[in-house]
Amino acid sequence: MKEQQLMVALRIRPLSEAEAEEGAALVTRRVGEQKVVLMDPSEDPDDILRANRSREKTFVFDMVFDHRATQEEVYVSTTKSLIGGVISGYNATVFAYGPTGTGKTYTMLGTDCEPGIYIRTLDDLFKALEGTTEEMDYGVSMSYLEIYNEVIRDLLNPSSGFLDLREDPRGSIQIAGITEVSTTNAQEIMQLLMKGNKQRTQEPTAANETSSRSHAVLQVTVTQKSRRKATGEEVRVGKLFMVDLAGSERAAQTQNQGKRMKEGAHINRSLLALGNCINALSEKKGSRAQFVNFRDSKLTRLLKDSLGGNSRTVMIAHISPASTSFEESRMTLIYAYRAK
Ligand code: ADP
Ligand code: MG
Repeated sequence: MKEQQLMVALRIRPLSEAEAEEGAALVTRRVGEQKVVLMDPSEDPDDILRANRSREKTFVFDMVFDHRATQEEVYVSTTKSLIGGVISGYNATVFAYGPTGTGKTYTMLGTDCEPGIYIRTLDDLFKALEGTTEEMDYGVSMSYLEIYNEVIRDLLNPSSGFLDLREDPRGSIQIAGITEVSTTNAQEIMQLLMKGNKQRTQEPTAANETSSRSHAVLQVTVTQKSRRKATGEEVRVGKLFMVDLAGSERAAQTQNQGKRMKEGAHINRSLLALGNCINALSEKKGSRAQFVNFRDSKLTRLLKDSLGGNSRTVMIAHISPASTSFEESRMTLIYAYRAK
């Protein structure tokens, strides 16, 4: 596959048991490898026709995965090809985007039997480093953090409080005081992640008891040092961010009030800022470079040196295939389609 700076993929999870029990119809249809058709399930088709809308809308992405796609397939087609760049000192970011319950965590973290992108990437990263024959020393370290209400927390050391972002003189973004674990194997990282995940902020809402309203960010840093004691030793750093974003459903839909409402506003703000940044980047080619406002949210500030430039970005949008999620799916498709 052609190397591209921005890839937007869509994953449609299988119909859940609950959806099947409700008798929800399927409203999505994958056509070929890149298209999905969304069917408006409204009761009265005449209304749609009178409003001069089509019942069916087609969206095109770089890749569309449906319920048949395996974890391996999703990983290989989206993320695997980023590893070489990160080893050579380039940055990359993979996002899981979508409403709560559509499979973001399944794609990124996965389960014991069906491991997701985190562990597959790390496994292949370590394999690739074992295979390098250059006169280089490689170091791999990781951090795991969450952004909740525009505040950064270290998931590997939650008692450390709120952390600040700093920009070093070379324009590289650092998180002051974050735990950075040096590691040599993927299994070790996975255990840290599982432990870190238990620290994620989760409180029940009306819409979904275990909905996640924080962005979970796994940062993997590969540092490369020349072994020859050359003058002014050359150090190259590649960063890979893998982000399980907060649920993209709108605050209004969960009848949120007070604290929840504020959360919703923060989530929307960072997802909006992210969408704007990605959108601006995708329009950059050819035309005059558009101003990309990374300062709009913590998430985009953190990713400032990993979006655009020589970095590669993968967005995997997630939806349910069920008629009961039609409106959310429609909004998600529009967001992701616009990102492209
Ligand atoms: P999110 O993180 O977006 O809120 P989850 O990843 O927790 O959603 O997924 C919700 C439920 O659906 C979980 O029980 C998960 O195991 C299941 N699920 C999601 N995607 C898939 C898939 N592609 N295949 C099988 N089960 C899935
Ligand atoms: Mg989740």
